[in-house]
Amino acid sequence: MPGGIKTDVRNYQLYINGEWTDSASKKTFPVYDPSTEEVIAQVPDAGPEDVNRAVAAAKAAFDDGPWATTTAQERGRVLFRLANKIRENIPMLAEMEARNTGKPIVEAEYDITDVATCFEYYGGLATKILGFVNPVPDNAVSLTMKEPMGVAGQIIPWNYPLAMAAWKLAPAIAAGCTMVLKPAEQTPMTALEVAKWFNEIGLPPGVVNVITGFGETCGAPLVQHPDVNKIAFTGSAAVGKIIVKQAADTVKRVTLELGGKSPNIFFADADFEAAIDGALFGVFVNQGEVCSAGSRILVQKSIYKKFVEAMTEKAKKVKLGAPLDRDTKMGPLVSKDQYDRVREYQEIGKLEAKLAFGGGRPKDFAKGYYVEPTIFYDVDNSSRIAREEIFGPVASVIPFEDEKDAIKIANDSPYGLAAAVWTRDIFKAFRAVKALRVGIVWVNHMQPTYVEAPWGGYKQSGFGRELGPWGIEEYLETKQVHINLNEAPIGWY
Ligand code: NAP
Ligand code: MG
Repeated sequence: MPGGIKTDVRNYQLYINGEWTDSASKKTFPVYDPSTEEVIAQVPDAGPEDVNRAVAAAKAAFDDGPWATTTAQERGRVLFRLANKIRENIPMLAEMEARNTGKPIVEAEYDITDVATCFEYYGGLATKILGFVNPVPDNAVSLTMKEPMGVAGQIIPWNYPLAMAAWKLAPAIAAGCTMVLKPAEQTPMTALEVAKWFNEIGLPPGVVNVITGFGETCGAPLVQHPDVNKIAFTGSAAVGKIIVKQAADTVKRVTLELGGKSPNIFFADADFEAAIDGALFGVFVNQGEVCSAGSRILVQKSIYKKFVEAMTEKAKKVKLGAPLDRDTKMGPLVSKDQYDRVREYQEIGKLEAKLAFGGGRPKDFAKGYYVEPTIFYDVDNSSRIAREEIFGPVASVIPFEDEKDAIKIANDSPYGLAAAVWTRDIFKAFRAVKALRVGIVWVNHMQPTYVEAPWGGYKQSGFGRELGPWGIEEYLETKQVHINLNEAPIGWY
């Protein structure tokens, strides 16, 4: 084929106002399989003109379309139909997600199953948006009503592409909003596949629009657009800060799910085998490309040496391989950029701390963005590998003396997304739960995430919460209504 393009490269268009369309510029960009470094798709490079079209469609659908009068029951049914479609297509979507992100197929299957569960959850919640009667003292009835926020711009990262899309689309649809979704440039495929079902499941044109493009030329115009009422963003803290500034001019509602440097804390009385498993899983799952990765592993001094040795022995057995191989525990990183970034941190770590395992590129792979699972120990909490989010399989093991010391180190971070604590002492566990300045705490586990429970961070890990009833609140406005029961004139003049 000319230019080395293979015939199985998929070509996608933008989904705007219920129709498939090219970008105004007609430009496209390639999407890769990070295990082979081959192009697997071409997607439109949407720019400001396309953002305008998508926002106009979303605004028209919100103001004048059938969506404005679609009942909550029907919005719920739409979500259930979408969930069914996704459940029926788990193998196809999981394979696509694994190929495009590099994550192991077994993990991709979990992700897509969770996506269906998320749509089901909000399908049920659509009819449970409740108002209040406010107990005002006057001769009046005072009501609080909940209404959809309007047009939402939704910008997502590449680590859990369809899950991140679902966490945003599902509550927004349930709330009655309309939306423009921008997937990450690296991983737009599954969102575009799912958009093929929108018409069939009964989403009117313009309710959900999907546009592919780059942060600066597609994301930024969406953030700045005066007809977008809310921005829901998941991504890095660096971009989150830009978004807050850019959203200020139009006083948009903003929710931010940003990064982390989450502490995974091991006390000497924890179950040792479970602890070692939990330490490795917490930081190496999804190749460490997890916002809540337990990348700071805090270990009590009395078990420290034995712990680092046991972690190292087990890390040797982590099977790196092709994403579609069912035995693979770690695939390649998502992109060349991410590979370079993680490789750089591996080198920084060698200067800042001691290397127990990994620290480079595995030898067995001629192609693909593979890096070794890497364990640094004797890490100082003030070093870069303890403060900066690496977003790859790099663990920083930090010793601590006692409970007070552990909490101090754990909280000494600009981030506050998540933490885990491992102990058999229930008093110690609950004291830690209360003392940790983070949005999510796990006790004797790390990473399980449920659509029923809130997700989000303290400090520079962002604000707002996704999932559960908290997630839908972020797409609702609150209206106060006063109904006068006194028919006589006010008597003011
Ligand atoms: P990123 O670089 O911040 O990008 C996230 C999204 O923002 C992408 O769609 C990106 O577009 C877009 N973007 C970039 N610049 C923009 C701008 N100026 N205006 C508007 N949009 C812009 O993050 P990433 O590398 O994709 O993902 C990794 C990060 O996400 C990590 O920091 C991780 O912790 C975080 N994350 C957080 C959570 C959570 O729930 N807290 C979950 C998953 C990931 P492009 O496609 O062009 O890059
Ligand atoms: Mg990016």
